[in-house]
Amino acid sequence: MTDRYCVFGNPISHSKSPLIHTAFAAQTGEALEYTAIEAPLEDFAGAWQRFVAQGGCGANVTVPFKEEAFRLCDTLSQRARRAGAVNTLLLGKNGLTYGDTTDGVGLVRDLKHHGVVLEGARILVLGAGGAVRGVLEPLLATRPKSVFIANRTAAKAAALAADFADLGVIQGGGFDAVVGPFDLVVNGTSASLSGELPPLPDALFAPGASAYDMMYGAEPTVFLRWAEARGARVIDGLGMLVEQAAESFFLWRNKRPETGQVRAALRRELEEKR
Ligand code: NDP
Repeated sequence: MTDRYCVFGNPISHSKSPLIHTAFAAQTGEALEYTAIEAPLEDFAGAWQRFVAQGGCGANVTVPFKEEAFRLCDTLSQRARRAGAVNTLLLGKNGLTYGDTTDGVGLVRDLKHHGVVLEGARILVLGAGGAVRGVLEPLLATRPKSVFIANRTAAKAAALAADFADLGVIQGGGFDAVVGPFDLVVNGTSASLSGELPPLPDALFAPGASAYDMMYGAEPTVFLRWAEARGARVIDGLGMLVEQAAESFFLWRNKRPETGQVRAALRRELEEKR
């Protein structure tokens, strides 16, 4: 029987993951099937158990199930335990479910792919939700000079910074506590989804700074347009999506796909939508 994988989400019809993993499978010669499954909001664990009963070997997990996926795992990677969220499930040979999070690795690989220097950088991260929690450990592992987390709900940013304080110089607060300049600003809020911009001071970017939005789309986000107008180099989250998928694929198949072609194909598809 062909090994089965899927991405769980709700809604899920927009997901690019089937396209990405099908391309990875073709490229590496792996025989597998990868589909998108809309799990019921009230029963994520049941959706995973049914998938396993039908021969499922592993899955990606996206909004809004990452915390529930974390809770159902029998064993977890250290980075998933830190993140409190899981975006990759793997059924072990012993029948136990292993959980990992590959979003942070995806972000760091994409930043490096774009030539962004992280070691010694002053980094501002906007948002304190699941996506930000998931990227902090890999980001801090690159040995930046400092990380400041700014969030609409300031207390959440401060609590998150305290949770990761053993890994590097990290502080958190409200947007009014942001004092630039920064070498890199990562937008991990969902404000871009509604076309909103977090309230940020004008003098945010150091010379040569980069601005990264975890969101991607046919058009640049409001945040990226704002950052570009202030001289920053701008990067959207499409590469993060492809890189986190490649890391999940590696966990499942022990083969590391080449991501360049898939990135380029997705970028072309987005540009055609303009
Ligand atoms: P969550 O719902 O967990 O967190 C949302 C965050 O955004 C919170 O910090 C929230 O602040 C903040 N926020 C929401 N609206 C506004 C606003 N109008 N102004 C300022 N702040 C706001 O979402 P996630 O962390 O899961 O996802 C965040 C983003 O990252 C999404 O756009 C998602 O698409 C993207 N993402 C991209 C990935 C990729 O592979 N490219 C992977 C994962 C996520 P508060 O705490 O005050 O409510």
